[in-house]
Amino acid sequence: MIGNKPSDKLKVTKKPVQRVKHVPQRTCVGCREVLPKRQMVRVVRTADGVQVDPTGKLAGRGAYLHDKRECWARGMRGALAHALKAELTAEDRARLESFMNTLPAETNV
Ligand SMILES: [Zn+2]
Repeated sequence: MIGNKPSDKLKVTKKPVQRVKHVPQRTCVGCREVLPKRQMVRVVRTADGVQVDPTGKLAGRGAYLHDKRECWARGMRGALAHALKAELTAEDRARLESFMNTLPAETNV
């Protein structure tokens, strides 16, 4: 290399770089759809069991689900436990189900 700095030769005109906002994407364990994190509900496995984490700040292994009842029902059939690498206890299920019941039911088309 003979000191040919490309930065000297090429006048790099400052292009207005389109700022792509980094939106964290997460997969719904119910339907496997990938969506921006803020449209998802986080479920986390804590020392006290598996619970819903509306703040997204609880430490622990987390999984994400749509705020749709259908996805929760589906996730609870196995994918959620798998994603969290945990068995859902009866208590966990009760807790998740009561949250699920606050979600809008699938709208009939
Ligand atoms: Zn889903």
